[in-house]
Amino acid sequence: MASSFAPPDRIGFIGLGNMGVPMARRLAGAGYALAVADRNPDAVKRFAAEVRCEQPADLKTLGSLCRVVITMLPEGKAVRDVLTGPRGVVAGLKPGSVLIDMTSASPVSTRELGEELAKQGFPLIDAPVSGGVKKAVEGTLSIMAGGDAAVLERVRPILDVMGKVFHTGASGSGHAMKSLNNYLSAATLTASAEAIIAGAKFGLDPKLMVDILNVSTGRSNSTEYKYPVFILPGTFNSGFALGLMAKDLRLALELAKSTGAPHMLLEECAHTWAEAETQLGFGADHTEVVKYLESLADGKAKD
Ligand code: NAD
Repeated sequence: MASSFAPPDRIGFIGLGNMGVPMARRLAGAGYALAVADRNPDAVKRFAAEVRCEQPADLKTLGSLCRVVITMLPEGKAVRDVLTGPRGVVAGLKPGSVLIDMTSASPVSTRELGEELAKQGFPLIDAPVSGGVKKAVEGTLSIMAGGDAAVLERVRPILDVMGKVFHTGASGSGHAMKSLNNYLSAATLTASAEAIIAGAKFGLDPKLMVDILNVSTGRSNSTEYKYPVFILPGTFNSGFALGLMAKDLRLALELAKSTGAPHMLLEECAHTWAEAETQLGFGADHTEVVKYLESLADGKAKD
């Protein structure tokens, strides 16, 4: 079996956004060499000012320099373009190289992309994450990894630097798990907001409600973390865009429909978040969904 990767091996890291920066920073901190790229040149400049890294002129060159390439992009189409597009990463890769997609992307599309890349001799591990910017900084993300077990063992030391790795099964299963996790995350936030808005309109104090929920059966990550840290203080700066959550819900819905699983609540939730995205814009913080729900309540009080 081919050996696993270890510092100071060079890793290609594409996508230096809210999550990519702290994840790549941790890899550098663990002693890996980095070659980075982002379609936003300022993102590359900012990262390179802080962390020693190569900035290849194009993606093909990045591919030729690295035996492992990580993508952390908004969605799956960007991943496909970056990897397989003209002068993309794959055009430069050497045999034995491994691709890791840590984006939250479509499980079905990932399976197709994985098959295409495997035919060219490049295994793809889908390894999306949960935990947000805070856990990316700490290196305590949950990493849901789909793909060949032997290949995963080769890249496990790299993933271990960023969080706790779970092998979820075949290619695409990590992305399936992630979209379903985010369905539950969005659903608890939506339901908590509905409950807290109703309570506040009745005269309950929202902060007291959150304190009570957090020692009662209604608690969730939304009440334990998002309400006290981002919503009640009004900072709305979780670092996770509302449009990305709306995308995750579309992916979860697509998955549920493709399996024939019931999806009444999921469909409603996906619709609500799509409407919130239309009202507030893709780049609003996802915790601002509460503002959208509050706007629905305005003026509708019954005597
Ligand atoms: P982000 O928008 O902050 O960063 C994405 C980066 O990718 C940007 O710097 C952008 O310029 C770059 N990019 C976009 N298209 C590109 C392309 N074609 N080529 C090169 N670079 C390109 O997003 P993020 O919050 O870092 O999220 C990244 C992924 O992780 C998403 O799939 C998201 O759903 C997922 N995720 C985010 C969080 C979070 O809390 N932010 C948590 C878990 C998972």
